[in-house]
Amino acid sequence: MTIDEDVRQISPYFQVRQTTWGGRACFSNGNIPKGTTVLQVAKSTGTSISYEFRKEVCHNCFAYNNARTMKCKLNYDSVKDLIRDAHCQISSKKFLGAGLWFCSEHCKNSYLQTPNIIELIECYEILLRQFPNMLKRYDTSTEQENKLNSIPISESIIQSAWDEIENSWMPLIDNMKPTKKISQLPPISEDEYCCIRFVCESLFNLKYMDPQCMTYRTFNILQSNELSKISKFPVLLHFQKLVFQTLYILLPSHLRKMLTIPLLRHILGTEYGNAFGIWQEGEAAESREYFGYWVFPEASYFNHSCNPNVTKHRKGNSMLFKVNTDIKKGEQICIDYSGVLSLPTLERRNFLADSWFFDCACERCVLELQSVH
Ligand SMILES: [Zn+2]
Ligand SMILES: [Zn+2]
Repeated sequence: MTIDEDVRQISPYFQVRQTTWGGRACFSNGNIPKGTTVLQVAKSTGTSISYEFRKEVCHNCFAYNNARTMKCKLNYDSVKDLIRDAHCQISSKKFLGAGLWFCSEHCKNSYLQTPNIIELIECYEILLRQFPNMLKRYDTSTEQENKLNSIPISESIIQSAWDEIENSWMPLIDNMKPTKKISQLPPISEDEYCCIRFVCESLFNLKYMDPQCMTYRTFNILQSNELSKISKFPVLLHFQKLVFQTLYILLPSHLRKMLTIPLLRHILGTEYGNAFGIWQEGEAAESREYFGYWVFPEASYFNHSCNPNVTKHRKGNSMLFKVNTDIKKGEQICIDYSGVLSLPTLERRNFLADSWFFDCACERCVLELQSVH
């Protein structure tokens, strides 16, 4: 897809352009001194905190306190007014806290101030209530995983899997009574649970985003890596179907209206290869914890270089992209995708190819490859 004129200008410091060698890249508009922040993004379209960190990371600012459970769990009292105003079906007796934990009252309140946030909390709460039963039935055997990973994958196999969901499974569910529908919930693992929450948040954010805003527009034209990723890990096709089926059965109507197969495939297909890791702040790269991942469409146009001129930093719930050397006008602006810059050439290049599906052709790789051969 071509880049619209106004999407080219994500930042005053650089322009996104189609390159002659394929793909898009960011080129500086002028000389940029070292230390300049060329992009700051504060609103991700979706975040996913790994299951093991679900109570240990603040869901507003991503603070972490050495594996201690966060101080504030979402309680019924803090959401009861929102529940009443939105007429949603969450009762005080059964409220589990929607799986939301915060480092402070301040962070909790700031999260709750997001317009319409109760709609998302309702989804999280419904999912949390059903999750133990779904997890109990999940088949963790390696036989099952090997079986699912041996499926041959092509564009048409992916398409027919989704056609079957749309033409056979969905009409069947549509004709069921609510209690019967619940009995059709598939078994899911902790990973799927986290992914379902990620999709819920993405649907919620997209629902209330201005379609003209830069985040929305860049999200729509993000490159999907669905085929490359599923070809490498065929089990993901099954994984995606479980995510969709769970959401289709559980989502309240306001968000279920948003849920279509093409949108789910775009959300997940663009997450592969475009998501950034959420890393612990203030720790060295080798010892910091990986909490999960998030998607910032505007920040997805940087290419990778093994000698990057821009460094990513996380600051609370935003990401900053800072120039680490003086950049000349017209130079390409690159980041490091993987945090593997210290690895030997071949190992580093294999890692990039496996995770991001490209053979790195950066200057450093070209130079180092010449000396390897
Ligand atoms: Zn916090
Ligand atoms: Zn390279």
